[in-house]
Amino acid sequence: MNGNKIQLHWQILMALILAFIIGVSIQVGGLESSGFAEGLVSSCEFLGKLFMNALKMIMVPLIVSSIICGVMGLGAQSNFGRMGLKTFTYYAATGMLAIIVGLVLVNVIKPGVVDQETAMMITGQADTSEKLTSKFEDRGAKDLVDIFLRMVPPNIVDAATDNGQLLGLIVFSLIFGFFISQLKNNLYDFQVNFWQSILEIMMKITNLIIKFAPIGVFGLVTPIIVRTGLEIFQPLFWFVVTVVGALSIHFFITLSILLKTFGNINPLTHYKAMAPVLLTAFSSASSAATIPVTLKTVENSAGVSNRTASFTIPLGATVNMDGTALYECIVVIFIAQFYGVVEGFEIGFITQFKIVLLALLTSVGVAGIPAASFVAITVILGVVGLPIEAVGMVWVIDRVLDMCRTATNVFSDTCGAVIIAKSEGENVYGSNDEKPS
Ligand code: ASP
Repeated sequence: MNGNKIQLHWQILMALILAFIIGVSIQVGGLESSGFAEGLVSSCEFLGKLFMNALKMIMVPLIVSSIICGVMGLGAQSNFGRMGLKTFTYYAATGMLAIIVGLVLVNVIKPGVVDQETAMMITGQADTSEKLTSKFEDRGAKDLVDIFLRMVPPNIVDAATDNGQLLGLIVFSLIFGFFISQLKNNLYDFQVNFWQSILEIMMKITNLIIKFAPIGVFGLVTPIIVRTGLEIFQPLFWFVVTVVGALSIHFFITLSILLKTFGNINPLTHYKAMAPVLLTAFSSASSAATIPVTLKTVENSAGVSNRTASFTIPLGATVNMDGTALYECIVVIFIAQFYGVVEGFEIGFITQFKIVLLALLTSVGVAGIPAASFVAITVILGVVGLPIEAVGMVWVIDRVLDMCRTATNVFSDTCGAVIIAKSEGENVYGSNDEKPS
């Protein structure tokens, strides 16, 4: 009977359609302030909160174990120094480039800047204005200094319990993972087994939570549609344009330029060869689930050695998430734009810088499974002081965007693999064949 089970993304879609039908019917019938609608909204809010609590519950252990596992693998490489440095430079550079594209587009298109009445209806958060506005007032250099101070928290246990301190926890996990890679023999093996088992448990719990996504999504989305009717779809349309536009620029332009410039590889050849990888990533929305196909394809079709592929691909699937980093940045600024319209604040440079930094760092800690970036988005919203329930707005179209960002994430891993392999003198796409020996 398992084969007949409806797949999760269809269940989410059905939950959305149901939320849509109920919400619009209440709106059309003018029943928004009826006892029925109020009861429904508060029950939905309860379900939505439960779902968000579950995501928050998993946040610290998932992010910590995922970062540690990503970084500690470096020790297994005999020549980690050179290859590790190249790989990390590639990950950091492409992540940053992706975020910059996202940042520029979300500031130019401004999908969250709608008329005040619509924004107020959608956010329904007028009562928090004072609290929010004060958080968004940039204090210039002092805030900037504060970000760096947060990276080194005086108390790591405190940092783990306070949303605003997660930056410190991420940095600590990176350092911790790095020093595991420096351990020898049985100490190293013990730590690797320990953290891998923790990560596996956390991935299983995350999967369990995500199984409840249809109910959670229904709970988060219904109150928004009851409040706004179809109004929500106009900013969402521009939000989708922004995300797809930014992902496309990164996918088609930035990564092509990198392939050509640093690998002297014809981008078209690479796109064609990676078609099975892209299709698997797109349909599964999971970088981790795509690893076997990615490994096989970069080795068999592109000619990357097993040594390079087995280092860069699994690591990339956890650490290198360009599409996710870009998405996190756009979602948070999109939500901030909404609240900005309601409360009249501008998202200053410091706040944007904070979002960029957090998007880059948290994307490292996002697991390669569907919808995992919501854990990171929740973290960033908490840190910059926005209500985390606001992610309900983007759940409406998340699955499709998840498919697109996962394809971008995985494609960037393959570009990294071929560029690094080429720099190691490997015969990528037969490049060494024509050289006289
Ligand atoms: N689904 C993405 C991946 O597996 C992660 C995310 O952005 O949610 O790469």
